[in-house]
Amino acid sequence: MDKKPKKKQGITRLMELAGTKKIELTAACTLSVLSSVCKIVPYFTIYEILKKLIQSYAAGGGLAFAEVKTLVILTAVSAVLYGIFAYTSAMLSHGAAFDILYELRMKLMEKMGRISSGYYTSNTQGAIKKLLIEDVEQIEIFIAHSMCEVAAAIATPLLTIIVLFLVDWRLTLVSLLPILCSFVILGMALKKPDGAKHQQNMADAKSKMEGTIVEYIHGMSVIKIFCGTKNAFKRFETDMNAFTKSVHDTAYYNANGMGLYYAFFGAQVLFLLPAAIIMLNHAASYTEVLPKILFFLVICAGLKEPLENMMNVSIDSTKINVGLQRIDDLLAEPEIMLSGDGKALHQFDIAFDGVSFAYPGSGTKACNGVSLSLPKGSCNALVGPSGGGKSTIAQLLLHFYEVDAGTIRIGGVNINEVTHSELVKHIAYVFQDSFVFHDTIENNIRMGNAAATFDEVKAAAKAANIHETIEALPDGYQTIVADNTGLSGGEKQRIAIARAMLKNAPIIVLDEATAYADAENEAKIQEAFSRLSKGKTVLMIAHRLKTIQNADNILVMNEGRLEAAGTHEELMQSCVLYRDMVTANERRDAWSLRKGDVE
Ligand code: ADP
Repeated sequence: MDKKPKKKQGITRLMELAGTKKIELTAACTLSVLSSVCKIVPYFTIYEILKKLIQSYAAGGGLAFAEVKTLVILTAVSAVLYGIFAYTSAMLSHGAAFDILYELRMKLMEKMGRISSGYYTSNTQGAIKKLLIEDVEQIEIFIAHSMCEVAAAIATPLLTIIVLFLVDWRLTLVSLLPILCSFVILGMALKKPDGAKHQQNMADAKSKMEGTIVEYIHGMSVIKIFCGTKNAFKRFETDMNAFTKSVHDTAYYNANGMGLYYAFFGAQVLFLLPAAIIMLNHAASYTEVLPKILFFLVICAGLKEPLENMMNVSIDSTKINVGLQRIDDLLAEPEIMLSGDGKALHQFDIAFDGVSFAYPGSGTKACNGVSLSLPKGSCNALVGPSGGGKSTIAQLLLHFYEVDAGTIRIGGVNINEVTHSELVKHIAYVFQDSFVFHDTIENNIRMGNAAATFDEVKAAAKAANIHETIEALPDGYQTIVADNTGLSGGEKQRIAIARAMLKNAPIIVLDEATAYADAENEAKIQEAFSRLSKGKTVLMIAHRLKTIQNADNILVMNEGRLEAAGTHEELMQSCVLYRDMVTANERRDAWSLRKGDVE
């Protein structure tokens, strides 16, 4: 196998991700460097003015404005130019950052549509949320702010040091001495053997804690009912304690090194003062040395900030590396959907040939050597005990997972040779838990076909038996579907059926809801289902057998195998499992009836 090329990191990798925005970013960084040049100029002009002032007063005269006019103008011009350069640089970098952010999120979302659904089970929702929101945001912040600061953070201290050397090399060396010491101390601290391990532990503990928080928020209603909050939060508490411990450990581990580093880093005056006294004692002329000492005392206090910026920027760039790595890991996930050219689907019969599949990390096959064929326009029902593999068959047809063995063909074309968009164009899937988005009802239905007119949306809603219910809502089709809209599960499912109606796909996959709220809802849904299914190749996961007795073909799944297939009558004769299930269903229906009678 080919060895994977080594992935770039930090700013080099960011520049790759920046794509077409590279030019804007380069211009922003250049302007940022120019702005730091302008920032240094006033220090130099102030020194010159100071020198003239001290010298002229020492000579017994005053200082005329004409003597410093050029220096004053230079100071003012550099201040104005600083503003212009810094503003333009920030505008360019922010614009580029938001564009890159948008493109990166779109790239990740598209990628997520092409990878195996196994990715979502092995990664908690919290980690995916963190990747799409925080990691990408961190990159935006880095590009918008830190990237230009990198250029400025390097240019400003360098230019300052050059200016310092031009004024007095001895005082420059004295001012740089504590900084040099602090860098050596920092280098030694960072080189300590377990430093990276502590940082990694802290990042892992934080990510785990955030994942747990998101999970608990999502599952709060279940937790309240089944676990009681105290027990349920045990894991959250454990994760939080682990995070606190990792922060403490890291802090203690770094305390000595970082303390010394900060003590030396800001100690210029402590080093400068004795040196200044020695220089003054040995100076031939006070007026030569005094302006230099004053200049160094002023500027050295300002030297700390750009140097600190340089440090922060290097810390920021290591921070984004972790996020960049997670983004790259997702982008490197193997794709199960073709992203380039694929074959077109023209016929809509479905064939599974020796299909086997086990969920990632699971030892048992959820689908074991299944071969089946669903003729075009036929209505097929998947039945069987819970865990038999019915939903797995539907998910494999939708290419949510890659099969381990065998092939799945639609109209003779292997679904591996079909792009994601081509596949989903021809399949409508009505889930058991119909997902409605936080949007208007009209837009929820229109998802089936973005180009549909409002009349077409209404026609689909009518065919799905949901039009009257929608019209009865105060805002009708413009009602925002939210938790408090008051739509029942059955009504939401009819909205999902309307969406599928509008899509008018030749293949329909239906996951029949196990419990309709009431008989009226059930009848309306059944009616909508049969309208939706007319003339289509239908694969229906049936949980209740009385609804599928007229199906063209009933497939009995048990422990991942296709145990039998045929019409209701055929299976009643030939399949013991099917017969038992029908009897059990009839008994359950009869029991419900008696219970109703009593009530
Ligand atoms: P059915 O729809 O007939 O109830 P499924 O297709 O959902 O059955 O499940 C078949 C088998 O695969 C079961 O043993 C189930 O536990 C397992 N399974 C289903 N979904 C997953 C998953 N996401 N990860 C791991 N195992 C799964």
